[in-house]
Amino acid sequence: MAVPQIKKLDEDVINRIAAGEVIQRPANALKELLENSLDAEATNIQITVKNGGLKLLQIQDNGIGIRRDDFGIVCERFTTSKLREFEDLNKICTYGFRGEALASISHVAHLTITSKTASDVCAYQASFVDGLLQGTPKPMAGNQGTIITVEDLFYNMNVRKKALRSPAEEYQKVADVVGKYAIHNASVGFAFKKSGDNNDIRTPQNSSHIENIRIIYGNEIAKELMEFSMENQMYNLKLKGYITNVYYSTKKFQFLLFINNRLVDCQSLKKCIDHVYSTYLPKNTHPFVYLSLELDPSNIDVNVHPTKHEIHFLNQEQIIETIASGLESKLLGSNNSRKAYTQL
Ligand code: ADP
Ligand code: MG
Repeated sequence: MAVPQIKKLDEDVINRIAAGEVIQRPANALKELLENSLDAEATNIQITVKNGGLKLLQIQDNGIGIRRDDFGIVCERFTTSKLREFEDLNKICTYGFRGEALASISHVAHLTITSKTASDVCAYQASFVDGLLQGTPKPMAGNQGTIITVEDLFYNMNVRKKALRSPAEEYQKVADVVGKYAIHNASVGFAFKKSGDNNDIRTPQNSSHIENIRIIYGNEIAKELMEFSMENQMYNLKLKGYITNVYYSTKKFQFLLFINNRLVDCQSLKKCIDHVYSTYLPKNTHPFVYLSLELDPSNIDVNVHPTKHEIHFLNQEQIIETIASGLESKLLGSNNSRKAYTQL
């Protein structure tokens, strides 16, 4: 057979393939955008979605804004205001670091940015296609901060679009991400709106974790929460969170895990926590657990997954064991104190 010649892919094809890895569904796109708003020190974030985010995903913040002069490259791949040297990754404190989110979104959706910095006299608006600014930014009235509008997600990726099941399911995933970030970032006010629906979810500015858990997951859970915190010098670990006591149980395990403020998955920690609770809870029921874990940034590799959803950290097994035994004594203590109380 004739051996096919090796050729370099067109830049556009490369970019679209990469974009499909970073942005897998509306909830991923929204997570990236939320993180950008938080990186921009926003104290108020409003989100609107239509059709589960497939038709429209809009996020407005009151953060520092984007300079007009940066509009030209803001959506190109690997343009960022957050990272300069590879070594900076070891101490990265912002969510973003590789300048891929906006670029990726512009390759798989129609993207419009409106932004105003404190020193601009007006806001500027522009649209972007495949990483490139279209025309020149239009001056217009606006408040300080940024509005990112994402329309027709995956309009040019038919297979992906078909694979996404229902708008209702996508909506649920988007709402889940917003709710979790709202709980973790309790000082920031969040508003989440389904277009055409009056039932916004709102968390006030300067709220508390518990209050936001109440707003998002309901009082049934919020009233059974206890604070859980621990420190461990050996692993340079600090943990804080709220967990339900042994008298609360539910069918679905609600596990909110933030490691150095990033919402992540850690199946082994999740399993381990579930196991600790299983001694106390009725069979096949689970707790609600919100944990914020701080580890030394130099012990974490955040760059192992395109969606940054998974991270690797040093001494993972030992750290999980340490948390499990802390949890064990917390639950034991709460069980005993309740027993003592009811026996009085
Ligand atoms: P990264 O977050 O990794 O830097 P992004 O593609 O998400 O990459 O964003 C590119 C750049 O655009 C950011 O570094 C930041 O300077 C700017 N930016 C994006 N969103 C916002 C926002 N909501 N407010 C202010 N600046 C933003
Ligand atoms: Mg980003």
